[in-house]
Amino acid sequence: MQGWKDYQAANKDRFLDELLELLRIPSVSARSEHKNDMIKCAEAVKQRLLDAGAGSATIYPTEGHPVVYAEKITDPSKPTVLVYGHYDVQPADPLELWHSGPFEPVIKDGKIFARGSADDKGQFYMHVKAMETMVKTNTLPTNIKFCIEGEEEVGSPNLAKFVSSHKDLLKADVILISDTSMLSMDTPSIDIGVRGLSYIQLEVTGANRDLHSGVYGGAVANPITILAQMIASCHDENNHITIPGFYDDVVEAGAEERKLMAKAPFDEAAYKKDLGVKELVGEKGYTTNERTGIRPTLELNGIWGGYTGEGAKTVLPSKAFAKVSARLVPNQSHHKITEKLIKYFTSIAPAGVTVKAEEHHGGEPYMTPIDSKAYKAAAQAIKTTFGKEPIPVRGGGSIPICSLFEKELGIKIVFMGFGLDSDNLHSPNEKYDLVNFYKGIETIPYFHQYFAEMK
Ligand SMILES: [Zn+2]
Repeated sequence: MQGWKDYQAANKDRFLDELLELLRIPSVSARSEHKNDMIKCAEAVKQRLLDAGAGSATIYPTEGHPVVYAEKITDPSKPTVLVYGHYDVQPADPLELWHSGPFEPVIKDGKIFARGSADDKGQFYMHVKAMETMVKTNTLPTNIKFCIEGEEEVGSPNLAKFVSSHKDLLKADVILISDTSMLSMDTPSIDIGVRGLSYIQLEVTGANRDLHSGVYGGAVANPITILAQMIASCHDENNHITIPGFYDDVVEAGAEERKLMAKAPFDEAAYKKDLGVKELVGEKGYTTNERTGIRPTLELNGIWGGYTGEGAKTVLPSKAFAKVSARLVPNQSHHKITEKLIKYFTSIAPAGVTVKAEEHHGGEPYMTPIDSKAYKAAAQAIKTTFGKEPIPVRGGGSIPICSLFEKELGIKIVFMGFGLDSDNLHSPNEKYDLVNFYKGIETIPYFHQYFAEMK
């Protein structure tokens, strides 16, 4: 569409400036000291949606951070697309590993470096600018609704309540989410599934206070040693997970899907080089793409205890802590797995310590059909702007709200992610390539066009 192209070309720099403004707001949902930044960010998102042509935009307070809702209803008889995204970001630390300030975006080598550039401000903002393009060129063929929340990075604790109490408001024909990656710009892909998540925290307590390791060491259990042993026992020599019943509900991917997956280009040498590792380590019997897509995994996310300051302190600590999470595949239930994790860690604790295991948050795995109109519209849109049919792939990450949307609203999701796995999501130096940002803004209007035509 020439009209879209001209409009986007003429407003390219402004689109970017607006995104950079959003990236300057440190909307870290996990930290209470950023509560005001969260409100500031929600207000900025609301204003941008109005500026981009939304007929109305509202900030809905929740018990946590607010949800921004906006809509542009052109004609109730036309199909409605609900865009979900999140304006909150992960904490930026460790700060010393950033080459530039996480909330002072810089453009270097054609990439935007900032926390939230890819996850998810840069991605949901493409939809805002795509809407603007269609509204300003009088070509919007659908109704658009936006639900941009502020708690995705902390497990969306208040979204379920919002969704179930606003079912009419959120009524739509499809949910479109850009919060995932493509294989590469040369190999466009669409995620057809995300993994579920079970997340727990462990607290191992030995003596009732920190002790002198010379006076008491050897006679009293050391919680750090025991925690390390407990965690080491979770995988066997083939990197299978040993927690009883962990694989019970896993539906193995079929030979056909594994064959399709094997077709996706994967350069193991480049992958290793990018990560700075000599060898890849994972579950025996599966390829790297399978390990991160179709297999459940268990990772230790953090471990602490005892003395970690400068120099030496000979202490026998009273407590040790760890954060442990599992990624789940279709048919596994996060409630069941969380229960199994908690049971496992509390049951293997030796008598010299007590173990407290608590649930953090979780989400169910989700698969999206590839024969739906919405999927076909997304595939066709990507083919139009990338010149290639996208490959359906299963993503390794988790978007816990997917199964919630389906259950409450009865609608399917299409993941149109424009990020790259190398975007350093949740890591220092998060980036989003300018070309991906602009390509997304170019592609999304085609989705609306094809989706409207297919109705
Ligand atoms: Zn995200």
